[in-house]
Parts: sequence; C-alpha cells; structure tokens
Amino acid sequence: MNQPRQALLALSATLLLAAAPAHAAPGDAAAAKALLMQGVAFDTVKGRGKVPAYAAFLKETLVKGGFAAADISIEPVGETANLHLVWKGRGKAAPIAITAHMDVVEADPKDWQRDPFTAIEEGGYIFGRGSEDNKFDLSMLVASMISLKAQGFRPGRDIHVFFSGDEETDGLTAPLQAKQAKAAGVALMLNTDGGGGTLNEAGTPIGYRMSAAEKTYVDLKLSVTDPGGHSSRPTGSNAIARLANAAARIGGYRFKPQLDEITRASLAAEGAKRNDAIGKAMLAFVANPADAAAIAVLRADPASVGQIGTTCEPTMINGGHAPNALPQSATLIVNCRIFPGVTVETVRDELARIVNDPSVVFSFDLGWPSPPASPLRPDVMAAVAKAVSASRPGVTPVPSMSAGASDSVFYRALGIPSYAVGGIFSRDADKFSHGLNERIPVSAIAPALVHWRTLITELAK
Ligand SMILES: [Zn+2]
Repeated sequence: MNQPRQALLALSATLLLAAAPAHAAPGDAAAAKALLMQGVAFDTVKGRGKVPAYAAFLKETLVKGGFAAADISIEPVGETANLHLVWKGRGKAAPIAITAHMDVVEADPKDWQRDPFTAIEEGGYIFGRGSEDNKFDLSMLVASMISLKAQGFRPGRDIHVFFSGDEETDGLTAPLQAKQAKAAGVALMLNTDGGGGTLNEAGTPIGYRMSAAEKTYVDLKLSVTDPGGHSSRPTGSNAIARLANAAARIGGYRFKPQLDEITRASLAAEGAKRNDAIGKAMLAFVANPADAAAIAVLRADPASVGQIGTTCEPTMINGGHAPNALPQSATLIVNCRIFPGVTVETVRDELARIVNDPSVVFSFDLGWPSPPASPLRPDVMAAVAKAVSASRPGVTPVPSMSAGASDSVFYRALGIPSYAVGGIFSRDADKFSHGLNERIPVSAIAPALVHWRTLITELAK
C-alpha cells in the first residue's frame, strides 16, 4: 500500500471513529484481549468441573471493574455453574437480558497444532478452544460493561447478564436462567452466541445476520420388534423389511413449505443479493409460498431446503442379531430440524401417517421446546442496525433463522423474544468453532467492543 493512500485511510478511520456514538478506547481493546486469553485457559469442557472457577474469575474481574459483588451471584448446577449479574438501571423501561455461555466443546490436544487450552497469539490470530465460541463475545461484553461503568454510564433499565454453564452439552443451566429472567420481568434477550457478520476473502465486511429464530433439533427413534425365528422359515413380518420400508417413505417425504416473518426477510435479502436460479426462486417463494417451481428449486438446494420448512432424515439404522435368523428387532434414528412454532408431536404424528404401519413404534428422548420465531421488534432492529453500522460502516443487518440450537430457545419458550447478535465478523475460511485449531483474528476485538457498547447504550438509554 502506498503512503498517501495509507494516510488517507488513517484519516478516514479517525473520522469514522469520531462519528461513532460509542467508540472503544485502545486500552479497552488490550483489556478485552487479556480477558479472552485468560478465559481460554479455563478448560470449561463437560466433565472437568472448571466452569465454577471460570465463573469466579469473571465475577472477580467484574468486581474489580466496579460492579458490586452483591449484584453478582454464582449458582452451582451439578459440576457446572450459572453466573447472574444484575446491572441496576434507572427504571425507565422493563429489564433486558444479555446471555453467553461459559462452557466449551471438548478439544483433544493430540489433534491440535497448539495446546487448545492455552491462548496463543500468532500471525494476527488468537488460537484456543473457545477463542470464538463463546468466550470471544462473552469477554467483549464483559470488557464493554467494565469500560462503560468506568465512564459513569448507568443503564436506563436493569440489565440482567446471564452466563450459562452447559450450552454445548446438556442444556440444563439456561432453562434455570430463563425462568429467573421471566420472574424479573425481562422484556427481551440478547444472546452473544450466534448472529454475526461475514467478511469476504479480502477482509471487507459484506453482511450481518441477526438470528431471531431457531429450528428445533430432535432425534426420533423408530423401532420394530418381531418374534423372529429361523431364516429358512420366513413369516412375512420381517422387522428389517418393515423398518426399511418406513425409512424409504420418510427419506422421500417433503414437509409442507413454510414462511414466517424472519425467513421472509432473510430469503428476500439473500434472493436480491444473488444472481442465479436459486436467488430467483427465493424471491418467487417469498412472493408466493405455494409457487411449485420455486419450491422445487429450493428443495433441490441443500443450503436452502432447511430454510423453507421442517426436514427429517433417517441417519442411523440397526437391526438383526445373526445372519441366519429372522430379526427380532430393528431401530432407525430419524433426525428432524423442525420449523419454529411446530411441535415435535405434530412432526411425529405426520411421519407416523406417512409410514402407515402401526407396528413401527415412535419415541423421542429430548423434550426440547419448539417456540415460534421472535418478532422483529423495531427497537431491537434499530439498535442492532446502529451497532453494526458503528462498528462496520455500510453494513445492514438481516434477520435469519439458524439451523442450530442455542440458549435462546428456553427464553423464547417462556415468551421472551430473543435475538442472537454476536459481535464477530469473520471470513468463512476463519470459522473453526467446535473444530480443530479454533481461532479469532485479533482485529475482531476493537469492532466487537464498539458493537456491544452501542447495543447496551442504545437499548438501555
Ligand atoms: Zn456457542
């Protein structure tokens, strides 16, 4: 890069920062980075019992940062823990909640290039398990709160900060916090885990998704039992054959397409952006959700089919006990991703009708709620738009429905609208959450601080 251009860029960056409503001081970025790197060192994996120590560290950090110890509680839940901070406001509106999770997905040091539980800065990145999911946004939030507090900011309404302890595994801690939020009269929840922006390969921000809905994940188990017998004496009621028939019917079945406020917005935005048959089909589907030609195109695209309705796919099969015996049992796992607002029971009944064989027994273990999408509240939309344009000028947020589940589902189930509005912008090539060598660009820190500061100061004026 030549000198005059560099100077110009530096100047425009200064102007942009000056124009931003709540820019972060350089000292904030250093503190936030230290907080993230210290956080990675707590191996808060299921079964190691380290979440309570990480929670204690966060409480200590917040108390040092000016929050009252009495306003922060840590509640043990089995081997893990929840942290709850009440940032008292001036009572101008109903409280809001901001959530994050303290636990991380397991990481085997043998498979990693560096120790997953030592944050290592290298080549402009911080490596380590949780450096992205979810310790990045958790640390950026904590650092932003501390710097706002130091500047004398007092929220206009109470802010309940909830850090859960088993989001990646059992999901037992967040429902407890959702209940506390409900009891405190929380009007809306911002989830740091999810949402976020995309950079192109050159590092230019090209979009931001805020998730206002999630599909429900359910594994249905289908079982067939039979007296069995000698395989030389067929009975006509073969358990494997009956189950295979059920699998084939489910594999070929397509649920009725659905559209809600969130997918209407996300498909319209995506459709307008792309210049291909899929983009055209997205726009046609938004205009008419019964458009058969558009539905056929979207169903044929693995990236789109899940956005237009419930999907269920057979994923595991097991049966029989000897090559020369009629099977006494056979089981099939059918994995469903259910459209927001549709109950698990409805999906089970629909599949049972398709299978049309009463000898196939349906069961499911996980009792996940399947709440509808959260409404696109104008106050939240405006605050997110302001936060995104303050940190990445020119980018407009688009609502989205995510295929994965987060803590938001438990809040939505209690009627608390929830929005995943994380502050990370990253290139597709840098997305390693849950995977090997998870990392975050150091350059993501400063804009994320602007993001959280703006969200807090806008929604709790
Ligand atoms: Zn997460």
